[in-house]
Amino acid sequence: MMVYEKLNTLARKALGPIAAPLLGWYDRAARVLPWREEPTPYRVWVSEIMLQQTRVEAVKPYFERFVARLPNVAALAAVSEEELLKLWEGLGYYSRARNLQRAAKILVENYEGKLPSSYRELLLLPGIGPYSAGAVASIAFNRPKAAVDGNVLRVLARLAASEEDVGAPGFKKTAAEKIEEILPEGRCGDFNQALMELGAVVCLPGRPRCLGCPLAPLCDGYRTGVAQELPLRAPKPLRRVEEKTVLVLIRDNRCALRKRPAEGLLGGLWEFFWLPGILGAEEVKERLFEKGIECGEIAGLSPSKHLFTHIRWNMAGFFVQCGAGGEELTWCKREELEEKYAVASAFRAYLQAAASYLK
Ligand code: SF4
Repeated sequence: MMVYEKLNTLARKALGPIAAPLLGWYDRAARVLPWREEPTPYRVWVSEIMLQQTRVEAVKPYFERFVARLPNVAALAAVSEEELLKLWEGLGYYSRARNLQRAAKILVENYEGKLPSSYRELLLLPGIGPYSAGAVASIAFNRPKAAVDGNVLRVLARLAASEEDVGAPGFKKTAAEKIEEILPEGRCGDFNQALMELGAVVCLPGRPRCLGCPLAPLCDGYRTGVAQELPLRAPKPLRRVEEKTVLVLIRDNRCALRKRPAEGLLGGLWEFFWLPGILGAEEVKERLFEKGIECGEIAGLSPSKHLFTHIRWNMAGFFVQCGAGGEELTWCKREELEEKYAVASAFRAYLQAAASYLK
């Protein structure tokens, strides 16, 4: 194949014939998911934001708890930040929760507490990009807009046997245009969900289940035997490594936490006291002494790591029995650690260690 023929293979692929078999399969095989049972605009919006970067199975219990406590836009706008972050604790990417609330406040102020049905107006809300706007507009309001996520990109790249970089903006734009050409009237949301569902349960990364796929007769990747190698993506840049020594400071059966700055990574969440670098026990004692914290028994905890999109944290940990000092820290009881303070999931390993030390 000449190089220019390898480009724009998706643009040239006729996708119209996939609509009927795809929707037929979706009607038979769609998973029962809590947000599908009652697809109000609010529930669709919350679920789509939760599902960004997070697996369906992980989202389910969070979603149910979230909408039970905050059943509508007005309740979301009014909840305290502390409680909001507690409801989100463990899901990660906490800016999503904050943006949900910022958007909810705008909706209460300007839209009578309702989501607009227009794609363009949805795009103006905090935390809503082209994918979420397309998903809400099509699923909740049946508007003819595409919702292109990673699953959809993979399915389309395989259907067209495209060797283009699916991470390139041009590919995503072509994908959205191609979908919008063929969205079936009255079933725009179902079509988008069907395409995502196919990617999630049939056209899997690395191991497509082509024999059970309703689109196999129309799929160039299957026909030419290249489906498994697709999609192609340009390699991601390496993550920057940061090293920390996390300290579970305990005094009078309480554990020390501090709040991270409101802006930036894990903004506004709680964390354990930590020191930069990977330190030994003696260095930890010295640093605590310099900070005016009396140090008693000290014991090593298992190392841990956490991956963010662009950063990797490598963490050592110590349990430290403390005397006086550390008045600027928040010393909390076990039930407060579990129920009141939203500790960033990057510290999950040390949260478990702290809970096991507190009675
Ligand atoms: Fe994906 Fe295979 Fe179906 Fe093609 S036939 S869409 S590669 S599962």
